[in-house]
Amino acid sequence: MKVGILGGGQLARMLALAGYPLGLEFIILDPSKDAGAVNLGEHLHGAYDDKALLTELAEKADVVTYEFENVPAEVAIFLNKHTQIYPSANALAVAQDRLVEKNFFHQLNIPTAPFANISSVEDLQEAMKTIAYPAILKSRRMGYDGKGQVILKSADDLIKAWESIQGVPSIVEGFVDFKREVSILAVRNPQGEIVYYPLSENEHRHGILRVSQCRQHDALQQQAQGYVSILLKKLDYVGLIALELFEVNGQLLANEFAPRVHNSGHWTIEGSETSQFENHLRAILGLPLGSTATLGFTGMVNFIGGLPESKQILSIEHTHYHLYNKIPRKGRKVAHVGIRADNEQQFSSALQTMIGLAQKSDNS
Ligand code: AMP
Repeated sequence: MKVGILGGGQLARMLALAGYPLGLEFIILDPSKDAGAVNLGEHLHGAYDDKALLTELAEKADVVTYEFENVPAEVAIFLNKHTQIYPSANALAVAQDRLVEKNFFHQLNIPTAPFANISSVEDLQEAMKTIAYPAILKSRRMGYDGKGQVILKSADDLIKAWESIQGVPSIVEGFVDFKREVSILAVRNPQGEIVYYPLSENEHRHGILRVSQCRQHDALQQQAQGYVSILLKKLDYVGLIALELFEVNGQLLANEFAPRVHNSGHWTIEGSETSQFENHLRAILGLPLGSTATLGFTGMVNFIGGLPESKQILSIEHTHYHLYNKIPRKGRKVAHVGIRADNEQQFSSALQTMIGLAQKSDNS
């Protein structure tokens, strides 16, 4: 079987690496000649909306998936006419637009921070009469890793914030004073089978994920599972989904969902019976899903903008180095380290060492 992937970065790379033992082949469309995944399959080199390349991708692949949610809607619709694309064009359309996504959560009774649709500075002034400061203005589209976001501390910030976001269609939402951020990853196949991973507890800085830790037996697991299962069923979803949530007073508020494999689940490579990457492939190919049982204590640390010497990582027990073959650049995720240990003390020690190394080489 051949899997087509839109995008050739680290997520595509880890999908391909998970697919080789299953005998899968890959065909990857990416505009960059040296994207990290393109030497792991056939590379279609060109723009994401190149109709000739999309046709070739659809003809050669048994199923097409993607590693980023900003795939243009018309591309997903075009591919859908010629082949199977998972997750569906509909799931993509909801996830791409923060307003549509937040309205969708509301329709499904999944709680969120208070929010409002913003098309003008007047809308913003009006909305901030009911939403308390601080708040965040976020562009509806093309936002990830904290991009396209401005914090509003008082009414004096509104005009400047609207200018800095260049007046694009946006939402404003109340700033959540959360106890912690968590995500839940779940997978559904076309037969309707669903499996859930244990919650991941996530630390972000400047809007970018730094550290994730698997939280087995978390008190909020059932609540998170309830929300993500509603999403999966309503969207008739196929593949892996990541739902990001804030914990406030023992309750979860939904922030956003990603219709793809997710950075907060990289620990599943070493820390789960079946990784998120393998389970995504199993789902989109209509295969039985694998166990999500956790193997000990597990988590991951991102390396952003810079790297330590490899031997500094490789000399530490319980760590697994994943280099993305990307040239280090400010703010760019270039590697992660997965950590897995049989006891908590060994896990924490390796985790702290990796956090220290990541901070030293950090350029974000
Ligand atoms: P996003 O692009 O929406 O995932 O935001 C990136 C990160 O910014 C989140 O993981 C949070 O750490 C932070 N953030 C986003 N929205 C809010 C909010 N309403 N309240 C508090 N922090 C937020």
